[in-house]
Amino acid sequence: MRVDQNACTGDGLCVQLAPSVFEFDVDGLAYVKDDAGELQTTDGAYVPVPLPVVDAVVDAADECPGTCIYVERPDGTLEAGGPLS
Ligand code: SF4
Repeated sequence: MRVDQNACTGDGLCVQLAPSVFEFDVDGLAYVKDDAGELQTTDGAYVPVPLPVVDAVVDAADECPGTCIYVERPDGTLEAGGPLS
């Protein structure tokens, strides 16, 4: 999964729904965290979705106002979020 920070509105829905994998950086935009909890501050950084939070992440992607959370299945097809890019 990844976040397109260029489209993030900074509303924080994802951080509320799945705080173990989404967090704001100092720029007020959401970024993903890796399995060690480290914030990945590179734009569009990709991390695997931990199994316990798959539902929360898919919900966040479905409800994200910026349509900028991309969740992909292992085969590369889109689970949720905007168009593949
Ligand atoms: S829900 Fe979407 S738009 Fe809102 S902070 Fe998270 S990534 Fe950004």
